[in-house]
Amino acid sequence: MCFRRSAAVLAAVWLMGAIGSDVRPAVAADGPVADDSKPASKIVPIYKTDAEWKKLLTPKQFDVTRRKATEGPHTGKYWHNKRPGTYRCVCCNLELFSSEAKFDSHTGWPSFCAPSDGDHVKLAPDLSEVPARTEVLCARCAAHLGHVFGDGPRPTGLRYCINSAALDFQEAKDKTAAHPQPSSPRSSERRTGQ
Ligand SMILES: [Zn+2]
Repeated sequence: MCFRRSAAVLAAVWLMGAIGSDVRPAVAADGPVADDSKPASKIVPIYKTDAEWKKLLTPKQFDVTRRKATEGPHTGKYWHNKRPGTYRCVCCNLELFSSEAKFDSHTGWPSFCAPSDGDHVKLAPDLSEVPARTEVLCARCAAHLGHVFGDGPRPTGLRYCINSAALDFQEAKDKTAAHPQPSSPRSSERRTGQ
């Protein structure tokens, strides 16, 4: 009886997540519920209430990461940052992107050709605008980070267009480890923003 009831509750929660705009992690408490073909991620999801997040974040960080807002172009603090280091999730400190993958997309948002670890971000369809976009979320806390587009530089051809407000930059201690940043071969093309 208890099992059946909890299963019904889980199904209802999943259904609410599927219908609403909030994207739930694909891993439930009792195991994977989505893509079974991939090995389980080592990332353990964390959950907090809005009240808990508001205690940890600035209003802008909360709006972007927990309400999927988009900061204006050229307004964030990292779009022109060229220092070597790592970009972590502002909510849960998970490493998301390296400065080595950052490039100047001329969009006014921090842009990366790949995440530091594919398991550290999750992608989800975003149907809020036409054409549909692909949303990028933190794999651990489901923070909204930005969107990914298919007009990035080689070798990935991807452009992770990320809000500065979703990131916390940690400068590399060894500044001599700076690597030249790849420049976009198609920088003259007009790119869509967030
Ligand atoms: Zn996170």
